[in-house]
Amino acid sequence: MERTRLLTSFQDFGLADPISRALKEENYLTPTPIQTQTIPLALTGRDVVGIAQTGTGKTAAFALPILHRILENRIKPQPKACRVLVLSPTRELSGQILDSFNAYGRHIRLTSALAIGGVPMGRQVRSIMQGVEVMVATPGRLLDLVQSNGLKLGQVEFLVLDEADRMLDMGFINDIRKIVAKTPVRRQTLFFSATMPKDIAELAEQMLRDPARVSVTPAATTVERITQRIIQVDHAAKPALLAQLLQQEQVGRALIFTRTKHGADKVVKGLARAGISSDAIHGNKSQNHRERVLAAFRSGEIRTLVATDIAARGIDVDGISHVVNFDLPNVPETYVHRIGRTARAGADGVAISLVSGGEELAWLRDIERLIRIALPREDRRTPGHRDPAPVQSRGQRMAPHGHGARGHDAAPGAKGPRRGRRSGGNGGAPQISRHEQARPSAGAIAQPGRAESMQGVAFLHRQSRPNTQPNRTHRPR
Ligand code: AMP
Repeated sequence: MERTRLLTSFQDFGLADPISRALKEENYLTPTPIQTQTIPLALTGRDVVGIAQTGTGKTAAFALPILHRILENRIKPQPKACRVLVLSPTRELSGQILDSFNAYGRHIRLTSALAIGGVPMGRQVRSIMQGVEVMVATPGRLLDLVQSNGLKLGQVEFLVLDEADRMLDMGFINDIRKIVAKTPVRRQTLFFSATMPKDIAELAEQMLRDPARVSVTPAATTVERITQRIIQVDHAAKPALLAQLLQQEQVGRALIFTRTKHGADKVVKGLARAGISSDAIHGNKSQNHRERVLAAFRSGEIRTLVATDIAARGIDVDGISHVVNFDLPNVPETYVHRIGRTARAGADGVAISLVSGGEELAWLRDIERLIRIALPREDRRTPGHRDPAPVQSRGQRMAPHGHGARGHDAAPGAKGPRRGRRSGGNGGAPQISRHEQARPSAGAIAQPGRAESMQGVAFLHRQSRPNTQPNRTHRPR
């Protein structure tokens, strides 16, 4: 069965030429559903409220029309001011958003700056002294900048709230209200959230004027058919377990993910020793090799393909019965993206993750937090084995007590946690056990809240751009 093809192309939007050129260079050929819905509306100047998760292409959905509109009326920002203000919950996301703006705006000499917590404010103040077109910020730090007269919000024409539900979970509601109150009433506001519970909808209602509503089609129906298994195993025993699983399971096609290129080659060798033929695709292999291997995988000549995340982008093969995470990804969205390769076109699928101790356990907790499902563990560790001490997960670092702490956005002089209106750290979804106890093996796993949690599931993997560093300003010479 063919997967739905999108009909629009970026040309249809009539974006300014330098933006279209940048998109070609980024290899964006077809707009994603959220882009198809949002861009035409935002280009007309309308407020938009969108339900979309990270990984759906929502950054470009708001960044592209904003850049186009900036170009239509190119005025110099006033000192200490910005024309576009994007608020996002975390430093990482803010950095990625800024990178995206700079990538799409690479031919227009865009000026931009980042304001995030955890770094000295002085440099950020200097970076916006002359004014910038685009400012991406976490709410706490932004408010600190405004309150110390480092930034004025009276010239904001475009306001974006990204991951509004997460910002509320993190206790930023009051900061957001104060910030919004300082921006001009006549502005265009684009508001994105992965979920739309009542309090978020109310916030949107208060901040937006006659907004158009968009949302990406829930991918839940696909993902519901994926049986997710987590197997805890000693690191050294992973190759043998993988071979055993591939021999025991009814495997149509299996896609095995490793974090590194070297790891992918090692898996292929390990499988060969167990009599299982496979091949790998990763960045060190030629394009020719990649195409040959993919064709063999598609035709069924090779049933087991080992891939790194980057190399696996664009693999669009139906009939993958098993996805195996030989290594867990350290970016939780990548997990969702990986397992979405199975259970396509109406089929069922199995996703098995081999998890050793230490940081992989922390990453597993990040994944569970993202998908809002506590995944039962099967324990295949050798008796008496002790995992390395668990390390802090991203989520824990961000909000050590589940929610309310300012975490990454902690500003100098911040007085303790700020609490959001919502009571749960995960939007009211089932709580995830903090205890990583081994639990009995589970086949098809009961997953409460799953349909809701997987709504708008990520289908594009954000490539981590290496230069997401604090204090970045972009000012073309
Ligand atoms: P986002 O949901 O904005 O975090 O985007 C996820 C990833 O998809 C990022 O790495 C983007 O660069 C990429 N992306 C966004 N839109 C497109 C598109 N139309 N075609 C290809 N990649 C895209």
